[in-house]
Amino acid sequence: MKIYNTLTDKKEAFIPITPGKVTMYVCGPTVYNYVHIGNMRPVITFDMVYNYFKYLGYDVIYASNFTDVNEKITNKAIELGIVEREVADKFIKAYLKDLEEYNCTKINKRPRVIDHMEDIFQFIQRLIDKDFAYCVNGDVYFSVEKIKEYGVLSNQNIEELKSGQRIEINPQKRSPLDFALWRKTSSGEQFESPWGKGIPGWHTECVVMINKLFGTKIDIHGGGIDLKFPHHDNEIAQSIALNNNYIANYWMHNGHININGEKMSKSLGNYVYAKDFIKEHDANEIKLAIFKTHYRLPLNFTEKLFDEAKILNEKIYSALKQAFLIINVSKLNVGNIKKDKNLEEIMDDDFNTPNLISYLMDLVKQLNIEMRQSKEFVNTYDRINLICSILGLKYKFKKLTSEDITLYNDWQKARKNKEYEIADNLRKKLILKKII
Ligand SMILES: [Zn+2]
Repeated sequence: MKIYNTLTDKKEAFIPITPGKVTMYVCGPTVYNYVHIGNMRPVITFDMVYNYFKYLGYDVIYASNFTDVNEKITNKAIELGIVEREVADKFIKAYLKDLEEYNCTKINKRPRVIDHMEDIFQFIQRLIDKDFAYCVNGDVYFSVEKIKEYGVLSNQNIEELKSGQRIEINPQKRSPLDFALWRKTSSGEQFESPWGKGIPGWHTECVVMINKLFGTKIDIHGGGIDLKFPHHDNEIAQSIALNNNYIANYWMHNGHININGEKMSKSLGNYVYAKDFIKEHDANEIKLAIFKTHYRLPLNFTEKLFDEAKILNEKIYSALKQAFLIINVSKLNVGNIKKDKNLEEIMDDDFNTPNLISYLMDLVKQLNIEMRQSKEFVNTYDRINLICSILGLKYKFKKLTSEDITLYNDWQKARKNKEYEIADNLRKKLILKKII
């Protein structure tokens, strides 16, 4: 299969570090507030990536962190009149609920910064010992100019970065591009470090947790496109310094989400929390709307997009519901198809979900025809279910009792015998029981 690697800006064949195994890390939320719908795009995208690797038979270790030590958390704690740990716990709980509601529960490692303080101290100390970092008045900075490849991910060199970026003047830094590994703090939650009281820098924690969980290198590092610079380039710089590698063999970035053509922002009033969005839209609908655009491209949320996704979702649901009924009544054997060549051809091309949805809708159409013509349809039904499991679409139907099945058979018999009045009554009963 091929993955577009944002490190090399090319589609490359995927070759895992360990055969049969995939290690993947995706930057998680800073837990000082509820996450917005834009934060859900990487969650939904990498859930699909996980599902497809599992389909291919890989053992996948998927980690996503919680940034639970941060100035934003301290500010929120002051605002709410509680301590930082309570803020972090509150929003971690809310985030886990979002993951459940969006049916994105594949993350199997969830490291927290608070549990890695000793590892962070050791990591920073190693950077200082190797002369890649320096301490000034309780702050520790990474010396960017020591890394000649700095900016490799975002394709910018140090000179371009210096002239192009708006950089705050900080007389403590040797170079304006240097970033903080450790920051001295005077208020809020502080940790006693070898350099004094403070908190770790955001760019350090991800590298430390990756090294701790997986060793020096992973297969895939993912995140939103906005994290490419400086966050991911800074992660890479630290990894070059200590491990002489780019942390991950494949870097994957998803595009951002606009709402009605505008960037989501609190001042524009189009800022939508994931927890509120799911009250108005079914998780399947949201996924279909997101997957209709390739993960690397920017995505524009409009009413039209969701109207279309709703129609697609209803089509899939009603075809599967009818098939489920016949399968139960006729006791058909399903789930025997485990592989689909068309599906693989589509997904092996850098997870081409727009094409996968087209293929899915063709299969739904085919399923309806096969059922209408009383043909064998289990093969098509199985293929549809394979696609749904990769896209993370979940459809639940009521389990039928023997009484339900008798009712259904009676209805079919009455129809066949042209006993319309009886058939009509039975049909009403079946609808009332939500069987048809
Ligand atoms: Zn990160």
